[in-house]
Amino acid sequence: MDRVNALNQPVAKLTGIGAQTVKRLEKLGIRVIQDLVFHLPLRYEDRTRIYPIASLQAGMTALICGRVEFMDILPRGRKSLICRISDDTGYISLKFFHFSANQHNSLKPGTLISCFADVRHGFAGLEMVHPDYQVISNPEAYVKETRLTPVYPLTEGLSQSTLRKAVKQALSLCISDPRLLADWIPEAILKKYQYPSLEEAIQTLHAPDESISIETLQTGSVPALKRLAFEELLAHHLSLRITRNKTKAWQAPVFEGSSDKTIVEKFLSSLPFKLTGAQLRVMAEIEADCRLQHPMMRLVQGDVGSGKTIVSAYAALLALIAGYQVAVMAPTELLAEQHNRNFSAWFESFQTNVVYLTGQLKGKARNDVLQGLADGSAGIIIGTHALFQESVNFHRLGLVIIDEQHRFGVHQRLALRAKGQQGSTRPHQLVMTATPIPRTLAMLQYSDLDISIIDELPPGRKPVVTSVIPAERRAEVIQRINNWVGNKRQVYWVCTLIEESEVLQCEAAEKTAGFLTGALPDVRIALIHGRMKSADKDAVMRSFKNHRIDLLVATTVIEVGVDVPNAGLMIIENPERLGLSQLHQLRGRVGRGEGDSYCLLMYQPPLSDTARQRLGILRDTNDGFVIAEKDLELRGPGEVMGTRQTGAVHFKIADLVRDAGLLENIQQTGEQIFNEAPRAIQPLCDRWLGASTDYAEV
Ligand code: ADP
Ligand code: MG
Repeated sequence: MDRVNALNQPVAKLTGIGAQTVKRLEKLGIRVIQDLVFHLPLRYEDRTRIYPIASLQAGMTALICGRVEFMDILPRGRKSLICRISDDTGYISLKFFHFSANQHNSLKPGTLISCFADVRHGFAGLEMVHPDYQVISNPEAYVKETRLTPVYPLTEGLSQSTLRKAVKQALSLCISDPRLLADWIPEAILKKYQYPSLEEAIQTLHAPDESISIETLQTGSVPALKRLAFEELLAHHLSLRITRNKTKAWQAPVFEGSSDKTIVEKFLSSLPFKLTGAQLRVMAEIEADCRLQHPMMRLVQGDVGSGKTIVSAYAALLALIAGYQVAVMAPTELLAEQHNRNFSAWFESFQTNVVYLTGQLKGKARNDVLQGLADGSAGIIIGTHALFQESVNFHRLGLVIIDEQHRFGVHQRLALRAKGQQGSTRPHQLVMTATPIPRTLAMLQYSDLDISIIDELPPGRKPVVTSVIPAERRAEVIQRINNWVGNKRQVYWVCTLIEESEVLQCEAAEKTAGFLTGALPDVRIALIHGRMKSADKDAVMRSFKNHRIDLLVATTVIEVGVDVPNAGLMIIENPERLGLSQLHQLRGRVGRGEGDSYCLLMYQPPLSDTARQRLGILRDTNDGFVIAEKDLELRGPGEVMGTRQTGAVHFKIADLVRDAGLLENIQQTGEQIFNEAPRAIQPLCDRWLGASTDYAEV
């Protein structure tokens, strides 16, 4: 085996790994020997001490040693092999429901065996079912384990012992040549956090000695585990920083926006409102970026309703003035359609051709759009992820705007930018999100971006008054809708269901719409859900916007972006099924106009304590940042970072809930590595992100 690359060899090189096992290991993401090194145990078993049989209690998992007293095969019902073993202190039964002739022969009375299993109550005293046992032919030579036994995550057909043997071989390779598994974290950093060396960490986790208790290992607070998690998080952070640095080295079009004051002024004065201080500040930040000859990479965070769209439209204006095209990408058709309407209106008097592209668009209409993009006659293109399909070619793309960024993965974002590449020039990129990312997480998810925050809502917005009520009070809610509609205001009724099943979700919404139509004969009701044709959705949204509909029954498709200021009452059914940030997004559909607005969280009792606590947070605050932080505490980062999103970060070892404390130091350590040990960056990224990243190319 080639020494230097030994850990990068396929696992098949190890003894005892046949083609079948290779396939099974691959299911666990294990392809090369090094993957085994980082495949950590789920838990551990203690086989380091032998328990006297008399000391056993049901519920324990223990190693015992004893002689077979008798053995029998019971023909009753399922054929089973049963035997009794005893030591100097007592006896216990062993039971096997399936067994080989070999086993039958090996368990002859008088044989000395060691057994490891859970102890439970049986028909006649304590018993072990299918113990992991070993015949001890020479008691003199019997050595028990001195280290805890690792129990690895498995996949069907793969046995613990096969995996243990494979890991053992991988580890002995590492020991045989320390150069194979280089420790790239500088000594000083290890010292500072009191982390063990990489080799020590790996050894400790795969084969902990008796000095570490199983409990300590299980809590995840062992320095060995912390160190690996830290290294992994660090690697992710570093890879984003590399992306960022590379980006900053590229060329980008220079938008001398303000040189044409009249156009900018005309645009701003045509708006039906006065921009907030926060909007103006962020616009200035964007403008400053776009004047540099390097691509802007800016994330605009702003709570729902803070007015991000117009800020992005301003950036678009700068691009248009400079003679460049703009692509605006939204995560849903509904939102893309809305942007299309807004941008079309805002740019109406600027002789700019705003075009719209989604996956639904076919035939000639589609070709016309593509043609306009290619020849430059289309100035702004608005669409869904259909925008980065192969057939889409731009004439002169200068700015990419991505709305509700958390719904897209890093890679989709980068793919769209690659579309605008011309020689060494790339477009500017502006991404927006209403899901505030706690600072610590932003470091992992967005280290490649500069961040602007719109921390001010347009004047006159009143917080949405939120109440948490049980579903039994439905009749009261119906009455309230009636009054509300009587006052010429509009209502959303949101049906939630288990996320994964869109079909069921739509069915539930249909049922609810039917029920409400019966209960509210004077109210104009319409239904919108994800399985409707795009044109139908659009028609419904238009009617709602134009107030030809009073009550809109919807699934969570309306979660992002939808803007109808006259709708000030929202009922969310079964809010306990959704995450806080998602609920906050939904609630952001109301409270957009001048009047009071309300959100009724109508839960299905009984409510668990955590659910009660979570809904309480929503009732008590309208601040998206506070909600995101609390969400992180209560539910973990999946929600905040969007586990549903494509391209969400997947970690091998780190667990953002368990290891949240580590994030604090990541940025500073990253800085230190950039300055003092830049050579470590590439190998760290290779080790932890491997082939799954294309950060080097983007
Ligand atoms: P979000 O940040 O959630 O994307 P939008 O851009 O959809 O918010 O804006 C929400 C609503 O507020 C829209 O109707 C928009 O026209 C309006 N709006 C934006 N900026 C202002 C402002 N400065 N004053 C008043 N209304 C504004
Ligand atoms: Mg928006």
